[in-house]
Amino acid sequence: MAVDRLAVIGIGLIGGSFALAAKERRLVRHVVGVARSQHTRDAALECGAADEVTDDAATAVRGADLVYISAPVGATEPIMRAIAPHLSSDTLVTDAGSTKVSVMAHANALLAGHCVFIGGHPVAGSEQSGPSAATADLFIDRTYILTSAPDTPADRLDWLRKFIAGIGARVIICDADQHDQLVAATSHLPHLLAAALSGALADLAPRSGDLRLFSGTGLRDTTRVAAGPSDVWRDIFLDNRDNIRPPLEAFRARIDAFLQAMADADGDALCALLDEAREFREGLNDQ
Ligand code: NAP
Repeated sequence: MAVDRLAVIGIGLIGGSFALAAKERRLVRHVVGVARSQHTRDAALECGAADEVTDDAATAVRGADLVYISAPVGATEPIMRAIAPHLSSDTLVTDAGSTKVSVMAHANALLAGHCVFIGGHPVAGSEQSGPSAATADLFIDRTYILTSAPDTPADRLDWLRKFIAGIGARVIICDADQHDQLVAATSHLPHLLAAALSGALADLAPRSGDLRLFSGTGLRDTTRVAAGPSDVWRDIFLDNRDNIRPPLEAFRARIDAFLQAMADADGDALCALLDEAREFREGLNDQ
């Protein structure tokens, strides 16, 4: 199960955590981390996620048994294009991107014949970024989705499933289309709403005074993810925009229903909206 050389391209929060988790469980012997900036590369060495760093993905993947692409999803295509000629047919390449349809299409176009590619998405993370925020236990008891192609060798998929389970995650294998539709509602919409809420409060602040003095844990909880890196989330919103639209419309309908109930001073309607919301929220605690 242990791999000799793991190349992590985009060694930030997720890639750094993957490396730390695999190292801690002795699933990997040597990690080479790739990032564009010296600052990120230094941080990856300092936190122990990488044993060696470079800004050149092609150099990193030479001789690698496992390649983990964990840069913003918009960088996936150029990264795959750059590494393809340097991969061996035995190399298993996977990724951590929050969208899967475009990633699988790029892999099919650019990596087929060069390696085995299996898409991945850890449903784990935080609003922090960079390797200094990485932790070895990020994936414990978290869902980790894998997306394979019809021609993915069953033994390689099984190997990756066991490797991911080895870092503590619960693996789900699903179709890329289904993945992108579901996470549009469960992950991308909440992030967009947290960003919109934070932005709206920033708009109100000049008129209302220092809102921070009047803010408590509720506001911090509902806006926490808005502190995430904008390059990562820009790429997700652009890539999955068609799937984000329907849940966003559903959200808008809820806002309209609240506005209408308040305009009508309709307490029963407000209670019905709040009860439905509470029931769904309580169900999340069972996960
Ligand atoms: P992050 O902490 O910002 O890490 C991304 C790293 O990629 C950065 O350290 C950056 O360093 C490097 N990078 C950016 N462009 C690159 C390129 N072209 N080539 C090589 N390295 C590059 O972001 P993250 O949260 O780990 O997210 C990484 C991926 O995981 C994204 O695809 C995201 O969708 C996915 N994901 C994130 C979460 C989450 O909650 N954060 C959860 C699941 C999946 P330099 O700027 O120095 O290059």
